[in-house]
Amino acid sequence: MAGLIPVGGGAPDARCKLCGKTASGPCARCRALVCADCCELTEGGASLFALCLTCVKRGGRTLLPAWAGFVGWLVLVIGVLVAVAAVVYVLRVAS
Ligand SMILES: [Zn+2]
Ligand SMILES: [Zn+2]
Repeated sequence: MAGLIPVGGGAPDARCKLCGKTASGPCARCRALVCADCCELTEGGASLFALCLTCVKRGGRTLLPAWAGFVGWLVLVIGVLVAVAAVVYVLRVAS
């Protein structure tokens, strides 16, 4: 029976949430345990992260949550407004 003891750390009964095989690690976004077959490696800054296939389907291969796109859009709008205000200011000062 000694051969059945899993190698490495972690709970011995940790199972992949998708296929039920022995999990190799948690998903970087939803923290669900998945095996190597049910996750995809994605770049998140300097290091690699594993995303479960559910999260890959739902949000693409990024660690950014859904609101990040909205915040990026908001920053873009604010940036344009600031640029316009700066141009108006410069024109007023110049005249
Ligand atoms: Zn799996
Ligand atoms: Zn996930």
